[in-house]
Amino acid sequence: MKIAVISDIHSNLVALRTALSHIKLQQVDRIICLGDAVGYGPRPNECVELLRRNSYICLMGNHDHAVLGLTDTRYFNSYAREAVEWTRSVLTPENLDYLRNLPFFFSENDFLFVHSTPLHPEDWEYIFSEKQARDYMKQMKQRICFVGHSHVPMVFPEHERSYYREESILEFREQKYIVNVGSVGQPRDHDPRLCYVLFDTESGWLKFVRLKYDYEETAREILEKGLPPFLAMRLAEGY
Ligand code: ZN
Repeated sequence: MKIAVISDIHSNLVALRTALSHIKLQQVDRIICLGDAVGYGPRPNECVELLRRNSYICLMGNHDHAVLGLTDTRYFNSYAREAVEWTRSVLTPENLDYLRNLPFFFSENDFLFVHSTPLHPEDWEYIFSEKQARDYMKQMKQRICFVGHSHVPMVFPEHERSYYREESILEFREQKYIVNVGSVGQPRDHDPRLCYVLFDTESGWLKFVRLKYDYEETAREILEKGLPPFLAMRLAEGY
């Protein structure tokens, strides 16, 4: 089966539309979204509705959780907190209901999908180092875990150095992997192009797709909606 894995849309409708039109041409069987549909960006309702229509499953992210009032936002920076409060005030009751019912995990055969970490995704920890990734891999039952959350695309193999390159084959019958799929709506690896992943569940073929999108339009809307200007500026930097 060929799947597309997207994450961290963050109410960036221009980026989401660009990603979805590209995905439509790839003949995937499923689109799986790892969460953070909302937060930071100017179009939460439209993004949630597009995800409802297009994704096979969508998971709970920390910003979705925070918008529902279920995660303590004292640990969010002030820009994120302001965006969470604004998002809560504009989401329709139907879209809030949809977010409330998002699961923390999706797992099928050898594959696990979560927003943050394999074991307790609701703690919203980040995986940045090889050591952290290995500690999680020791305990996880599946062969590959797909995560988002840090907005930094990366592959963590169990027995090799972590890497980021456009295409690779994951030998998941030999070793386990954690794959960070990057972010559609707010990339943070100093590359402003949106990022998502294509994966073949038989061969282990993995591809990071990077696409230019009109981030200036999203930045303009962020300012129009009165959200923090920093959230507009960072889209151009990819950070
Ligand atoms: Zn996020």
